[in-house]
Amino acid sequence: MTYQRFTEKYKRTFFVPSPKRKRKMPLLEFTSKGIYCAAADVYLDPWKKVSKALITHGHSDHARWGHQQYITHHDNVPIIRHRLGKIVVTGKAYGESFTINGVRFSFHPAGHVPGSSQIRVEHRGEIWVFTGDYKLDNDGISTPFEAVRCHSFITECTFGLPVFDWQAPERVHHEINTWWATNQTQGLTSLLMGYSLGKAQRLLKHLDPNIGKIFTHGATEKMTDVLRSQIDFPETHLIHRDTEKKEITGQLVLAPPAVMGSAWIKKLGKLSTGYASGWMAFRGARRRRAVDKAFVLSDHADWKGLLQAIEATGCENVITTHGYTDIFAQYLREKGWNARTEKTQYEAETPETVLTE
Ligand SMILES: [Zn+2]
Repeated sequence: MTYQRFTEKYKRTFFVPSPKRKRKMPLLEFTSKGIYCAAADVYLDPWKKVSKALITHGHSDHARWGHQQYITHHDNVPIIRHRLGKIVVTGKAYGESFTINGVRFSFHPAGHVPGSSQIRVEHRGEIWVFTGDYKLDNDGISTPFEAVRCHSFITECTFGLPVFDWQAPERVHHEINTWWATNQTQGLTSLLMGYSLGKAQRLLKHLDPNIGKIFTHGATEKMTDVLRSQIDFPETHLIHRDTEKKEITGQLVLAPPAVMGSAWIKKLGKLSTGYASGWMAFRGARRRRAVDKAFVLSDHADWKGLLQAIEATGCENVITTHGYTDIFAQYLREKGWNARTEKTQYEAETPETVLTE
């Protein structure tokens, strides 16, 4: 027997590897498909096709097409059906807990857009919360944000810089109505732009119908129509091929930001353009959008809001997913939290991408 063969045999005979220590898996992991709960075999807002997906809200980077089964809040069911077509979806109420393979799940208000939720996950005494997107201000159309106690908090931080400090939304809505009334006296039509899911309805809800008529772009009208069964809105008039300029002069037109620079905008006549977004807090973003009037109004928490939300959870661990993740996590570590960043495919809107949806 050669020395080599002897050592091989010796190894096989006497070398017994110690049993592999099972490393405790975290309750939620970040995988190539999305945020995964292995114990329940479900994903939260996955970005690749999976068999079972829990969905926080209807924006396209969180509710994607192709999953075999969707579970979400009742109010989000018509929204994702409208956006994704024929899907298998189950609706849940806020606070209603349900169990998958022994793991307890429940949806809680995120205050971001109608039907938006945070997802609470509990297993063997450990509690995690995934926020999706959220804001603390009451927008008048979404169930207001509720803090949920947890050990680990997975948070967005789209506006996770101290420069983002929102003023009271009522002031912004007042500003918008004043702008519309002033344009009207000058014979101008007011074109107000905001995302077609969430922002557009929030704007609509607070427009003053005593000033004039409210017209809509098709994309805005369709989404608003989906939400009319849940929310009371002022009357709107869809702009169609035969709509004449003189009908809309002095009135207000609600449209998605993508209309800027399009042929559609030309048929509106003499305009004053307004754009509502958190990014309008940046002067550079205002200039690039080339709008006449910028309204700083966001469906995401500002710096103080993010910190307030985190504190209210009583959590020890924070994972930042999209936005100013590294700066925000660094700040949290300095303040004593165990904070880190994980890569996801949630597209934090940026000053460059706000025109698309
Ligand atoms: Zn969103």
